[in-house]
Amino acid sequence: MTLFTLISMIYPNTFNRRAKMRPNNKAQKHILSHDTEREFGGALGAICIPILLPLTVLFLICGSQSPEASVLQWPPLLPSANQLWDPQALVLLLGWIGLHALLYLMPLGKVSEGLVLRDGTRLKYPINGFHSLCISAVLLMLFLVLGAPFGYLFELLLPLAVSAIAVSFLLSIYLYIRSFWAPSNALALGGNTGNPLYDFFIGRELNPRIGNFDLKYFCELRPGLIGWVVINLGMLMMEVELRGSPSLAMILVNSFQLLYVADALWNEEAVLTTMDIVHDGFGFMLVFGDLAWVPFTYGLQAVFLVAHPQALTSLKAAAIIALNGVGYYIFRKSNSQKNQFRRDPTHPSVARLETIATVTGKRLLVSGWWGLVRHPNYLGDLLMALAWSLPCGFSHILPYFYVIYFTILLIHREARDERQCRAKYGLAWDTYCRRVPYRIFPYIY
Ligand code: NDP
Repeated sequence: MTLFTLISMIYPNTFNRRAKMRPNNKAQKHILSHDTEREFGGALGAICIPILLPLTVLFLICGSQSPEASVLQWPPLLPSANQLWDPQALVLLLGWIGLHALLYLMPLGKVSEGLVLRDGTRLKYPINGFHSLCISAVLLMLFLVLGAPFGYLFELLLPLAVSAIAVSFLLSIYLYIRSFWAPSNALALGGNTGNPLYDFFIGRELNPRIGNFDLKYFCELRPGLIGWVVINLGMLMMEVELRGSPSLAMILVNSFQLLYVADALWNEEAVLTTMDIVHDGFGFMLVFGDLAWVPFTYGLQAVFLVAHPQALTSLKAAAIIALNGVGYYIFRKSNSQKNQFRRDPTHPSVARLETIATVTGKRLLVSGWWGLVRHPNYLGDLLMALAWSLPCGFSHILPYFYVIYFTILLIHREARDERQCRAKYGLAWDTYCRRVPYRIFPYIY
């Protein structure tokens, strides 16, 4: 669930076919070597993106912290008393990642199996992300009671982001080098082109592990996602330091995003069937997305609110809470309905829904949430994204960065999924599109 979950949506519509491939014949072995399609502009993209996206992160943080909060200011003004590098930030970041590695290894929660790999085996994954969130919350409360200066995270944000970017590069280099010791069937089908820059960027090894410790699965939802809500808490505490109490706008942003993160971790098992885990190699693209992009750009609203306090009337707050509530309801209900239907179509909660048959034997829902629009889950997600920005008022565009970026990406992702479904389901998909003409927004798109 990262920028690169989203960027990786640009992958070609060969996902299902590729996932079933086994490198047992000559032609398939050839695909595994140097003949894979290149995404993101190939080698040129692989050079530009690792330069531009880290700069974007730093630019957005500087912009959100500066009084002007202008997206036109280049180079961005470094907020006073702020610096790019601070060894404390690196120590804090490494300590945070280390803590989550320990929590990952704790024998809490159940263990689930991933999808079947090309060699016919299935990997085991601990489903204890939600436990990690709860234990982190208890530890944070303890530190708060002991008077830890959480507000300092506001000043440390830039060096923390720089450290996260540096750690992302170092981890990606380690992953790239170690991938040459991995057996060929452990490599991602798209990450072995032979071009070192591209392979470093896209990721060579599919499931790099140290013993049972799965590096990709660990990074996917834990240090970055939980780190995001901790940064939000730091911004809230900074407001308390500056103004005596947290603003209503800040409380809303913190609560909404905590709900989103808690939901993702509560449903952690669902990540095992995502493209990130099943298809993509673990390279700079995912590492940076997990460790730097998500924690330092998804919560920009809270950073913005520290430097740009907003007065929010109870009425406006109630309207924003209602919008987030409606978004969350649509998002959760529609995702759960489809997941339940795919797991067990005879389950009483979905058995009565109208469906159409497809040549693959799978059926498509044409009533319930999936009869409203073709991607009700995206609709819910976008309503929530808007609700996260509205507490920041309308004076600046910067706090709307997430909802703008997310809209573009979900529209693109929807188009890509549509192509895949048309290829998979043929005429049945066309029938579904006629029955459910709108993609994401009823009567609009
Ligand atoms: P979806 O959950 O939208 O799944 C799409 C798949 O669902 C299709 O390929 C098809 O697969 C199946 N499907 C489509 N229509 C129907 C139907 N009518 N009946 C039954 N099955 C159908 O996938 P995503 O991974 O894109 O999204 C999951 C969630 O994650 C969303 O809520 C999204 O908003 C969120 N997300 C959030 C991100 C973030 O950074 N915040 C990033 C990316 C996603 P098949 O038929 O093979 O089962």
